[in-house]
Amino acid sequence: MDEPTIQVNNIAPVSQANGNHTVIWVQGCNLRCPGCFNPGLWTFKGGEAYTPSMIAARIPEGVEGLTVSGGEPFLQKNLIAWLTAFRELRPDLRIVVLSGFSEAELNMKLIRATECLDVVVAGRFEQDKAVASNLAGSSNKRHIFVTGRVRMDFFRNLPKSEVMVTKNGLFATGMMDSRKLNGYLTEYGISLEVL
Ligand code: SF4
Repeated sequence: MDEPTIQVNNIAPVSQANGNHTVIWVQGCNLRCPGCFNPGLWTFKGGEAYTPSMIAARIPEGVEGLTVSGGEPFLQKNLIAWLTAFRELRPDLRIVVLSGFSEAELNMKLIRATECLDVVVAGRFEQDKAVASNLAGSSNKRHIFVTGRVRMDFFRNLPKSEVMVTKNGLFATGMMDSRKLNGYLTEYGISLEVL
């Protein structure tokens, strides 16, 4: 049977702010949170179709998990099937999904039944509650632990911010804004090229 695919806009092979995980950003979100840090990913056009095997092949040795960000992961119609297949390929890896949907909006029954992920960080980004901790983005978001394999301590011990250089440019997490950081670098005549 063909493997499921999801549309992926960008990949960071290793992120310490995500707990020594590979991070993928999926393409497309229609939740339109004011102050969204990734409005370039609102459009559903773009990105490339990736199977679980293709992502598994991009994960460097020593990486301990996969974080799926976006965009909105659960607007990828094959996400649960994709995660289930990925888990079968790499049962050794943690899986964290960062979603703008709330617990009530997500199909938690199916997520719990399949155990296709370990934790979903759920809820809209609320600009006036922005925080740089626990991969939450804003303090209203909830960590929903599905498998018991990851606990809150994992999130509490993460670095608060990080700058990553990916094939699509510079990405900042935490309280830094990627667009502003890129702007400052350009202002000072610094340009980065990823070869
Ligand atoms: S859910 Fe995430 S990607 Fe979508 S608008 Fe909100 S912050 Fe942006």
